[in-house]
This record gives sequence, structure tokens and C-alpha cells, in this order.
Amino acid sequence: MPKKQKDSNVCPNCGTVVDKPVKTWNLVSPLPDAYGRITITVMGSYVCPNCGHRWRAVVSKIKAGGDSVEIEGKKGVKKFGEEKGKKEEDRGEIIELDISDLDEEE
Ligand SMILES: [Zn+2]
Repeated sequence: MPKKQKDSNVCPNCGTVVDKPVKTWNLVSPLPDAYGRITITVMGSYVCPNCGHRWRAVVSKIKAGGDSVEIEGKKGVKKFGEEKGKKEEDRGEIIELDISDLDEEE
């Protein structure tokens, strides 16, 4: 029986898919990543309803900090925050000085 994918909610003993972990808790990484974000790892404790096997696995990872929050789960990475379209505004207006005005003041 070949393993297709390492899903955190699949019993490693018999392959039964468990809907939800019986318990979850967060592990916060004390060191920020290259973008200054803190990684919060959501751990889950699973109990297989079929064979009674218990195991722990990573449910998802959350990267928070800066302007956005990134949640890494089974369905991929979700990003929340102000990254979309805001960078254009952040550049600000370019104010051009007319040199001739300065000359007149002297
Ligand atoms: Zn099982």
C-alpha cells in the first residue's frame, strides 16, 4: 500500500481520515523569519476512531507580522493583509521642484 501523501489527519497506522484533531495548541517560534514575521505552528493531537491510534501532527502554520498574515494549511497558503495594491500608494507622490522658483527668491 503506497503512501500517496503525508496528510496530518490520516492515521499513520490504518489510513483512516480523521475529521478534526481532538486537541490543538500553538507553538510560537521565538525567532522571526527574513520578513520579520513570527511563525506560529498549530499542532493537533489526533485519535483514530478506527484503531485507536494516537498521534500528533502539524495542522497549519501561521506567519504573522509586518503588513500581512500568512496561513499555511492543507489547502495551500492563504495570505491576508495589505500587500495587494498597496505598494503603489506607498511610493507616495513625487514632488518636482521648479528650479526657476528658487532662483527668484534669492
Ligand atoms: Zn487508525
